[in-house]
Amino acid sequence: MTGMDMLNALHIQGDETIAARLEKYNELVMEKNRVMNLTGIKDSGESLIKNVYDSLTVYDARYFPQGGSLLDLGTGAGFPGMILAILRPDMQVVLMDAIRKKLRFIEEAAEILGVSNVTVVHSRAEDAARDGAFRDHFDVVTARAVKSMPVISEWALPFVKKGGIFAAMKGPGAQDELRDASGILSLMGTRLESEKECILPSGEKRVILYLRKNSLTPKRFPRKAGEAERKPIK
Ligand code: SAM
Repeated sequence: MTGMDMLNALHIQGDETIAARLEKYNELVMEKNRVMNLTGIKDSGESLIKNVYDSLTVYDARYFPQGGSLLDLGTGAGFPGMILAILRPDMQVVLMDAIRKKLRFIEEAAEILGVSNVTVVHSRAEDAARDGAFRDHFDVVTARAVKSMPVISEWALPFVKKGGIFAAMKGPGAQDELRDASGILSLMGTRLESEKECILPSGEKRVILYLRKNSLTPKRFPRKAGEAERKPIK
């Protein structure tokens, strides 16, 4: 599958430059993956589907405003954050992770690809959410494969601006996870805006939950590092 095939399959507007950058980023990930553990997926074609295409599934133009700001929390090797930054050069994109070495790779790759709308932040979510530059700030926050819904909701929602969106990328168990997180979602003044189901070309089901944050985050959230994992609010 080419970059353009992926954009077309998902009905996403994008030109040849974007399509080529998506493919090139995948190549850079695969190349680096030989010497450093970036992703469990070793095959380039499989990574195009399970990393790049999968990352694109979170995109919905309605929730990604022109010139807006995006945070990808627990970005790892840049999925979905780097893919979205390539797709939307007009947006300011912050890629945050608690592990520094993957962020260094992202910086190198951004330089090679000429992607200039990306900033990496090395921090735990629970600490960065106390920083006034990030708190209640982003138009949209994404997270893929980062903890269960009650935990990632407590971490991600403090970063979302009032009226903004948290797009949680989940699998077939999304509804159960959503029910599980009803306590923390209501404490955070958040409700489900919409949800999207996708089937990857490799057959796996993905569900994106788009949650709208309607009020500023109460001061006590997020609780101190590790607390949400130890005692998730359900
Ligand atoms: N989102 C990427 C993807 O889908 O390929 C990476 C997923 S990986 C399973 C989870 C990532 O979350 C790791 O890179 C880990 O370092 C990061 N992470 C875990 N706890 C975190 C925290 N408290 N704050 C920030 N990042 C965290």
